Amino acid sequence: MSKRKYKRAKKKELNRKKIGILLIAIIIIIYCVYNNMKPQYQATETVNYGQAKKIEKTIVIDPGHGGEEEPGCVFGNVYEKELDLEIAKKLQAKLEKEYSRVIMTRTEDVNVYLNERARIANRENADLFISIHQNALEDDDVTSGIETWYNPVKDTESKILAQNIQENIIKTTNANDLGIKESKGLIVTQKTEMPSCLVETGFLSSTKERQKLANDEYQDKIVEGIYNGIKSYFEETENTEENMEGNNV
Ligand code: ZN
Repeated sequence: MSKRKYKRAKKKELNRKKIGILLIAIIIIIYCVYNNMKPQYQATETVNYGQAKKIEKTIVIDPGHGGEEEPGCVFGNVYEKELDLEIAKKLQAKLEKEYSRVIMTRTEDVNVYLNERARIANRENADLFISIHQNALEDDDVTSGIETWYNPVKDTESKILAQNIQENIIKTTNANDLGIKESKGLIVTQKTEMPSCLVETGFLSSTKERQKLANDEYQDKIVEGIYNGIKSYFEETENTEENMEGNNV
């Protein structure tokens, strides 16, 4: 082979090599582009990132009194119906972050009859009913504290609910613990067909406690206590249900 021929053959071989490399490069590029376009995983269900799934419960909150004819206790410019609603609205906002349905028996300054409040909870098939009130005594500026009322004959859960709420509300507020109390005569706890209780969040007749109850931060502590009580109530009763199911097997 002449030197010239040899050079030409060498050039041809080089060109072939170049084409080969180019083809491989094209194949690699196509492969990469195709892989990038492909979905990285096959989603089987919709996941709401950053939005935790809520617990499937219906909780009815009942701000006591309301309207011109039912102001509750009144001391100077402090009205029970207004504080009941303020606390209830805060509780509603907190519970809505955790539970699927939170229903108020009133959201404005209107009177809702006691039977109607219970009817709302029954109609909505609620899991829990919590009524918010404040106490008062005549000619007594000394008595203060929190108590939770429940109906002793309706079911066994209402007492557990009252206990959990009372315990937790005392923890967060540090208020005087007046304990849980039984009554068969309270319409809202009697006529509701689910575990229920009525929280007397303090005495408006006590100047000291009245000032606390009107305070935004103190209201937050009350709400925190009721919220924690509801949470621990569900934990306690659901554990019991599971245990009972286990025993039946
Ligand atoms: Zn009241």
